[in-house]
Amino acid sequence: MKINILVIGSLAKTVQSYLKQRDVLVNVAAISSISSFGHLEPGHYDVVLACVLDGEQVLRVWPGMVVCEPVMNEQGRLHLIPLRLEQAGAVRLVERFINQAPHRSTEHAMSSQQTVDDLAQVARYKDELIQCVSHELRTPLTYIMGYVDLVLEGEAGALNPDQAASLQIVSDKTRALVRLVTDLMSSGQPGESDLLLDVVNLGVVVKRAVQMMRINANECGVTLNAVTEPGVGLVLADQDRIGQVLDNLLGNALKFSAPGATVTVRVLRREQYVRIEVEDTGIGIPPQHQIRIFERFYQVDAAARRQGGLGLGLAICKQIVEAHDGYIGVISQPGVGSRFFFELPEVEAYVSASSAS
Ligand code: ADP
Repeated sequence: MKINILVIGSLAKTVQSYLKQRDVLVNVAAISSISSFGHLEPGHYDVVLACVLDGEQVLRVWPGMVVCEPVMNEQGRLHLIPLRLEQAGAVRLVERFINQAPHRSTEHAMSSQQTVDDLAQVARYKDELIQCVSHELRTPLTYIMGYVDLVLEGEAGALNPDQAASLQIVSDKTRALVRLVTDLMSSGQPGESDLLLDVVNLGVVVKRAVQMMRINANECGVTLNAVTEPGVGLVLADQDRIGQVLDNLLGNALKFSAPGATVTVRVLRREQYVRIEVEDTGIGIPPQHQIRIFERFYQVDAAARRQGGLGLGLAICKQIVEAHDGYIGVISQPGVGSRFFFELPEVEAYVSASSAS
């Protein structure tokens, strides 16, 4: 069997060295980016393995030949990602294709639109599965957390210090699990219509979020400061959702800071926007990761994974802020620290926009 494989993106070397060890005659062509595929013949390849942002373009040129995990971003654009961007994932994909090769050739006739629709459908199924599983997990976990806390508070009789210490660990870990499951559940939300909008003073929301986070900051040995510029306007916002954004940003700032560090939250006035900044003096984020950390399940490295979390927090923040017509970003330098910011339009901006239309 001879197979022609085209690899687009940065995985060419891995795939090439893997396929050399296989008992299959393969012909691997590799290009580093989608912009340079103009000279390639679409009909020449049996399989295309891509790791690119503009998935639709690849699917149009090589309908039915692309094996990748499709991911829809908020703008409805299709990203193609070899399973979880792990090199091993890419290799598994190629292997799967090789095993299925004889009956795949008939699939080549599929229209590109059908492929896009099918992949979008797969992405939707994946989202639904995540929602269902996390929903089912959350209820029993909440019970476990509630009852463990009751026992810890002595409601079922006095505990000796060893029992209390062990149960405290169960309580902390259950809380962490509930947080993960809540993150998973929120990852498919919210659309604009899911927001409970009210006229809100962000200074107050920030103050509340900082107060709630103070115990965690003390435990981490980090100083937490909040500063609100005078004259900051009101915004139209869902307080709970914006609280969720602040919790995520503050939680990360503490997580990636060393004891003795400082985290500062600022509420600032910008033309027709209110800007919130969460600044830390922690490990910072290398430039090549700064856009990607807002994608679902993206974490910078293994060290970040060891800190707990699923890589969902910032994706949820982005969804929430954009559902408010705002935007979110980060300025960061490795070893120096990170400043996450988001801006929401002032209420006056909404009023003048609606009176102009
Ligand atoms: P999680 O924190 O659960 O991993 P997030 O989506 O909140 O998920 O963050 C994604 C990744 O971005 C983190 O795993 C980490 O690598 C990086 N990151 C986020 N916030 C910071 C920060 N304040 N300092 C350094 N790295 C950060």
